[in-house]
Amino acid sequence: MPIQQCSRALHSISAAGLWTAGDKIVGHRLVPTPAWLAQTWQELLDVAGLKRQPQLVTVLSAHGSVAMFLPGLFQANLVAIGLTDVRDLILKARAAGRLQDIPDWVAPFSEERVYSDVELSRAFARAILAHEIGHGILHARRAAKGGVAEEGDADRLAGQLEELLGVESEIGKLVFELVGCAEQFCSHPAPHVRVAAYHEGRQIEIRARRSREAQDAQARWRAVFAS
Ligand SMILES: [Zn+2]
Repeated sequence: MPIQQCSRALHSISAAGLWTAGDKIVGHRLVPTPAWLAQTWQELLDVAGLKRQPQLVTVLSAHGSVAMFLPGLFQANLVAIGLTDVRDLILKARAAGRLQDIPDWVAPFSEERVYSDVELSRAFARAILAHEIGHGILHARRAAKGGVAEEGDADRLAGQLEELLGVESEIGKLVFELVGCAEQFCSHPAPHVRVAAYHEGRQIEIRARRSREAQDAQARWRAVFAS
């Protein structure tokens, strides 16, 4: 289930809540954003530090896409995420035996409560949303290249944002592996390329933090010797 049509497609939301690209319906049913998702979104925005913050739109399903970045729609940049797509990604991971180390996941799906394991859902959605905010950062920097190259840059920024948040990296790596393109013609990089870009983003932030810590330590030593 690759994330498709992240950007550069004409999208609109009809009065009936249908999400369309051209004449194709790509999503439907705007749904209230669950509190855990709104909180995850806000945490990401806080570390991203964008002046012009994108707005989050939650749909029940984004029809083949987990999420999309929609630049300049209705004046604001929008990020849309499909709740059942996130659930399906978790089920895919579970079916592939990739969640064995994570506590029991029970999935009594209902519209009131999409997930029973909120923490797992948060972790999956966080990686996806971090990627979409990555698109927002690239657009703000006027560095959005479009195509597969931009997707790789957004994956790297997702790694940086998650490292800034201090969350563990296992779920992030798993998510980018699962959404990597395994087909011949791809709008997104292959699984191992996406995981590598995410990992690289985390390393960039780790190096930046160590450099800041070393500078702070030097400053403290200078203060000691100066006194
Ligand atoms: Zn993307």
